[in-house]
Amino acid sequence: MQPVSRPTTWHPEPVDVALTTVDDAVRVLAGNRIAALTGAGISTDSGIPDYRGPGSPPRNPMTYQQFIGDEDFRRHYWARNHVGWRHMHRTEPNAGHHALADLEERGLLSGTITQNVDLLHQEAGSRNVIDLHGRYDRVICLSCSLVVPRAALAERLDALNPGFAESVGAVGDIEIAPDADAVISATAHFRPAACDSCGGVLKPEIVYFGENVPRDRVDAAYSMVDDADALLVAGSSLTVMSGLRFVKRAARDGKPVVIVNRGATRGDVYAMVKVDDGTSTVLPELAKRLPAPAATPR
Ligand SMILES: [Zn+2]
Repeated sequence: MQPVSRPTTWHPEPVDVALTTVDDAVRVLAGNRIAALTGAGISTDSGIPDYRGPGSPPRNPMTYQQFIGDEDFRRHYWARNHVGWRHMHRTEPNAGHHALADLEERGLLSGTITQNVDLLHQEAGSRNVIDLHGRYDRVICLSCSLVVPRAALAERLDALNPGFAESVGAVGDIEIAPDADAVISATAHFRPAACDSCGGVLKPEIVYFGENVPRDRVDAAYSMVDDADALLVAGSSLTVMSGLRFVKRAARDGKPVVIVNRGATRGDVYAMVKVDDGTSTVLPELAKRLPAPAATPR
């Protein structure tokens, strides 16, 4: 197998950002209509590891090309996904997700663009969410484009592989990754399911490494940034262009960018404020301290 490029192992150079405190973030964001951009770091406190975060083991996520081109890869992927999906289904939003939902409810936040596929923003009550990289609870047929719920596929996979998920769960040899992968060893005998309608290859409705985000989704995300006065990045190291481009857009238009993330990010060079801390502590503090939008001019 040819080695593939590994954007996940890119480590940003630290950049000195002058403003680094929650006070600074409150001051810069106050009175502005905010758009949020979130990544794996906001979901780590919900038990979903961020494989790009500091201290995370190096990971080599499957690429779109591998999934399309190799039946064995697909089998392995679906076996892991069959186990990991159950875990994802049980996760709950944390204080960071709730803080963004609260800001939206109060009219301070116009919407959230997320690189996560875990749906925890929606679980927390956020309404205007763009799932940039797709969502774990849907599956699409690569031939006829039929979209089916992941739960319906789970029943078919259970029928095709009786006892599989339970046996793996009992061994406990499972590691959950942000893309609903669970790392397990014995997957050679797993039987994936084909499209019910046309027999085509099924793929989670998730954007893989090496795959483009659908254009209409990118445009909707740009619009969300364009309609806002400021961009709040939470829990993303912005190592892939799919998220970084929105930071560049906001910076280009002179809008303040506030980044809350543990560790350096590729967007730090564009940030007016960089709070180097966890989203579960910083976002609730922001939500508590940001004043409600003024109803009348001062
Ligand atoms: Zn089909």
